[in-house]
Amino acid sequence: MNDHHTMSGLAARIRSGETTAAATLDACLESIERGDGTIRSFQCTGAEAARTRATEIDRRIQAGEDVGPLAGVPIAIKDNIVTRGEPTTCGSRLLEHFRSPYDATVVARLTESGAVPFGKTRCDEFAMGSGTEYCAFGPVHNPWDTSRVPGGSSGGSAAAVAAGFCHAALGSDTGGSIRQPASLCGVVGIKPTYGRVSRYGLVSFGPSLDQIGPFARTVEDAALVLQAISGEDVHDSTTIDAPCEDLLADLHTPIEGLRVGLPREYLDAGNDDAVNEMVQSAVQTYRELGAEIVDVELPLTDVGIATYYVIGPAEASSNLARFDGIRYGERVAPGPGESLFDLYARSRGEGFGPEVRRRIMLGTYVLSAGYYDAYYKRALQVRRLIRDEFEGVFKQCDILLGPTTPSPAFRIGSISDPLSMYLCDRYTVNANIAGICGISLPGGFTEVDGRTLPLGLQLQAPALGERTLLRAARMFEQATDHHTRVPDSGSSTVDA
Ligand code: GLN
Repeated sequence: MNDHHTMSGLAARIRSGETTAAATLDACLESIERGDGTIRSFQCTGAEAARTRATEIDRRIQAGEDVGPLAGVPIAIKDNIVTRGEPTTCGSRLLEHFRSPYDATVVARLTESGAVPFGKTRCDEFAMGSGTEYCAFGPVHNPWDTSRVPGGSSGGSAAAVAAGFCHAALGSDTGGSIRQPASLCGVVGIKPTYGRVSRYGLVSFGPSLDQIGPFARTVEDAALVLQAISGEDVHDSTTIDAPCEDLLADLHTPIEGLRVGLPREYLDAGNDDAVNEMVQSAVQTYRELGAEIVDVELPLTDVGIATYYVIGPAEASSNLARFDGIRYGERVAPGPGESLFDLYARSRGEGFGPEVRRRIMLGTYVLSAGYYDAYYKRALQVRRLIRDEFEGVFKQCDILLGPTTPSPAFRIGSISDPLSMYLCDRYTVNANIAGICGISLPGGFTEVDGRTLPLGLQLQAPALGERTLLRAARMFEQATDHHTRVPDSGSSTVDA
């Protein structure tokens, strides 16, 4: 990928006046106009507001100002992150007409770095799902094969970057929602350390698990966006109060001697053969790069899904209580003689889709007086064990390597039972449970029914280990050419 196709290259050309933020945005909107009829990754493009922002950036550049490292780069925003005056639907009928009075911290920070946040990308309703099929406004299609899902819940963001509509997008990851769609769409996606990025303005799903992170075509581009959005925030007391280091500092440092852990549980027989082969070939690449491969064990990989589906729904059930048709959310027309309770029940019953209702019921159940100890408290105890297990393993190695998902993208409509859908996140949920960081990057491809589908390689590092994570990811990227391949339906990322 030459400079022309990277975000830093684009920002440099905008800064030097070779092109403008406004022209770049126009090219981006045109490509969406041309291609998103089939992909359906955008809920809205917010063209007007974005044009105002782009023109302002151009004005400041012309005035000789340094507008920041992301000068004029359009970055798409997942539809569960609020943007002032624009829709934020969270993929839900309940919020179809909601307009936020403020920008999320990440959106404000992108703007401060010179970027042009634009549009809202489709997601599973309230970020619950693994295929973006649970978006109340229709599914998103995978640019590599439009009969397949892009992954979820940030499927719109992943598909938009894969289709070349924009260089980068933001998503949110509660149990895998950045890494899993990145894997299925053949792009880079980062789940930062818990507390690295402010959640202020992210419509909360599981606040002890949620993190916002970037999608991009290359590790360096994703790192640039991560750098821009990271850091302490007075509006989110869970952000880490350490000064934000230069996350790109080690990007070009060779990884000789780096200890790469390969958990035996990650090469499960339940994975597609192509997935296990991709991991083996990545191991080989790391060996050639001079890394030391260490065999490790993570037996609690197996209990991750069970733990996540207690903690996640428990937090969701209490968070989503505010969407009652009175405080937040669409209200149904009151029926004759209907009580307030009926009004709440009908607004929620009609407004939430089936998966969200399932999670609320699950969460309410595990938090209820008779079951709290048996489920919720127990899950918190297992959470501690999972954290300890990672801590132990990170004494033996610097990063962990494995697949992001057990299989490539599945066909839209092909998974009907919830458990099979949940199992897509087998390799991703534990990073959220433990609060560590992870990245998915293009690891290889497989042919299915005559179509080429991408496979994601996942790397994980300890909390605040992003520098090592990014360095190891970039070195793999440099040694391979997977990231340079684009889907037939897509184009190389739009540049003015
Ligand atoms: N697919 C997982 C779920 O449905 C993860 C979602 C997420 O990370 N937001 O809960």
